[in-house]
Amino acid sequence: MTLPRLLIIGPQGSGKGTQGARVAEAFRIPAISTGDVFRANVKEGTPLGQQVQAIIEAGDLVPDELTGAIVRDRLAQDDAAGGFLLDGYPRNIGQVGDLDAFLEERDEPLTGVIELSVPREESIRRIPLRAAEQGRSDDNDESIAKRLSIYESETAPILDVYRERGVAFEVDGVGTLDEVFERIITALAARGIVA
Ligand code: AMP
Repeated sequence: MTLPRLLIIGPQGSGKGTQGARVAEAFRIPAISTGDVFRANVKEGTPLGQQVQAIIEAGDLVPDELTGAIVRDRLAQDDAAGGFLLDGYPRNIGQVGDLDAFLEERDEPLTGVIELSVPREESIRRIPLRAAEQGRSDDNDESIAKRLSIYESETAPILDVYRERGVAFEVDGVGTLDEVFERIITALAARGIVA
């Protein structure tokens, strides 16, 4: 059996948060969303929240060192021993290196990288709908444009690294929630990752 040590990568509005949570639930592993961790800290006004609030609202990336420390702490907790799903991390090449170093030390290689693909126009169409539903303070036009451009310039290139390792696979993110979820589960099963 292959343990589900997974990443889900996709542009803003691709539905990766929703699908990531469903996949994690199906495998009974924690879904670790760095964006959610930051938002929760901002909401509670913690020192971390105060440190990152302006960065998030502007649509910039939080420094790698800070983000990496949060992910390492979370992955070291007991409930991640049987697998995990990371949503929104890594987001650039530096973070890929940080995660590799951590996972190599623990002899816990990634087993699947889900690339959720949606056309740019579709993700742009979906973001305002989410803003209305969730009231995210970073879903304003300027921040959205910056986040999409960071995705294209810094995050999309990390997929090449994972493709070269043979661990990444693309899933069409256009369809109903159930359709997309089934595609992910089927693709994971083809890699020996079954719930
Ligand atoms: P998300 O919910 O994944 O779209 O993340 C929301 C915001 O949190 C991003 O626009 C960044 O400001 C910050 N963030 C989340 N994940 C990361 C990461 N891996 N590296 C740096 N900043 C991040």
